[in-house]
Amino acid sequence: MDTTETGILAPSSANFGARIAVLVVGGGGCGLTAALAADEAGADVLVLERDVSALGTTAMSTGLIPAAGTRMQRERGIEDSAELFAHDILSKARGATDPGIALALAESSAKTVEWLVDTHDVPLTLVDSFLYPGHSVKRMHGSPNRTGSELMGALTRAIERRGVDVLTEALVTHLFADSESVVRGVRVRRPDGTDEDLACGALVLACCGFAGNAEMVARYIPEIVDATFFGHPGNKGDALRWGLALGAAVRDIHSYQGHGGLAAGRGIPILWPLIMEGGFQVNQSGSRFSNEARGYSEQAVEVVAQPGHVAWDIYDQRLHQLMTEFDDYRDAIEARAIVTAASIAELSAATQIPLATLTQTLTEVEAMVRGERACPFGRDFTARPPLKPPYCAVKVTGALFHTQGGLAVDRVGRVLREDGQPLPNLYAGGGAARGISGPSSWGYMAGNGLLTATTFGRLAGAAAAMQTD
Ligand SMILES: Cc1cc2nc3c(=O)[nH]c(=O)nc-3n(C[C@H](O)[C@H](O)[C@H](O)COP(=O)(O)OP(=O)(O)OC[C@H]3O[C@@H](n4cnc5c(N)ncnc54)[C@H](O)[C@@H]3O)c2cc1C
Repeated sequence: MDTTETGILAPSSANFGARIAVLVVGGGGCGLTAALAADEAGADVLVLERDVSALGTTAMSTGLIPAAGTRMQRERGIEDSAELFAHDILSKARGATDPGIALALAESSAKTVEWLVDTHDVPLTLVDSFLYPGHSVKRMHGSPNRTGSELMGALTRAIERRGVDVLTEALVTHLFADSESVVRGVRVRRPDGTDEDLACGALVLACCGFAGNAEMVARYIPEIVDATFFGHPGNKGDALRWGLALGAAVRDIHSYQGHGGLAAGRGIPILWPLIMEGGFQVNQSGSRFSNEARGYSEQAVEVVAQPGHVAWDIYDQRLHQLMTEFDDYRDAIEARAIVTAASIAELSAATQIPLATLTQTLTEVEAMVRGERACPFGRDFTARPPLKPPYCAVKVTGALFHTQGGLAVDRVGRVLREDGQPLPNLYAGGGAARGISGPSSWGYMAGNGLLTATTFGRLAGAAAAMQTD
């Protein structure tokens, strides 16, 4: 096996300098979690990260990890179970994902969160102010400011405490694999252009998906090419390329996490609690165009389809206050993305949305809140109070966050061939592995990204540590 295009080289062409039991490609949430688990299991482990710092998409995220049956939930009197969580995942994905994997992840999710908190000092608490779309109960766990950068900071401190090595500015360009697809090592390109070959016993692919590869996005997910890319640019689809060349099966290649609320021109996500708690979206003409409450991921294409690829989130001071819990929203205030207006007329003037349509839309939504009128898109507005002046608005566009299709894996992250048999010593998790979001954007339930990153990371790291010959 020797092809540069696929990134797979014959082991005979390697010049191995060192041998590490478990190599992890990618230092985002999945990679660091996998490294912690492999180290705990007693294996020598090294993380290889292409960037100057280990951050990835995870550091750009809100950092919320869903888990069912945690003690944080019990302390708040929230009853949850792996079965209920798996049911929610499958409902959101309309049944179009692997039920066994969904249940396995749900079953392991509480252990992952409690392990991060208790063993690795990652400060996660239950987000009890909002119920995210698709979740039957509150089960998101996040850091104090609800940011992925805090999460990555805490994971990095844990890695440092345990003395696990992370080699940064280490772009993995090739895998060395024999004719049986046993991975013998990797080639790493250093910033000065030199290459280093490292041998391994097992390899964990934690280098996410292909959202940072415009050509692959255009090929596999053409519906989202007009959206703003707001993910990690270093995620070029390497796991997919290598996996395919080694005979791995790929699933849900068109699946992705979109977002219908990226502050236009600011690149700041305006998170979905604003919508779930009573806000709604209109286009530049002042008309609603969809059921915003189905989920933020599928809303990306809806927003991108509007004139100018933009929409306005319309809400009020009550929601403005609620949203200040989130660092992102506070950034949006600082970036002067938020418009406030004492009346509808002022709101119309500030947003340049025609007054007549805006007034009509607000009046219609008020009637939906009172239950006097049905939403033409099927949204139930009745559980929340009506909006009242002063009003707020923020101009948003649709975004692509990360891809959800990837390498088929079993319940511990072993990469599978088309016939369901595992490849000898290759593991994947997070965005590198096939997600649990079905075939498109509508199946993505909030938290699916970090659920698979942290839980598959933990399971794959531990399993890889057991298989290092
Ligand atoms: C704005 C935003 C908000 C989000 N909020 C949430 C949330 O609250 N909850 C949730 O569950 N999900 C959320 N997500 C999704 C979540 O961030 C991702 O699903 C998750 O971070 C993926 O983790 P990962 O470790 O697989 O990938 P990443 O964190 O992207 O890490 C992959 C790493 O691999 C490195 N890499 C890539 N190729 C190579 C190579 N060849 N050699 C070496 N290194 C390489 C990259 O540089 C990167 O550091 C959000 C995403 C965004 C963009």
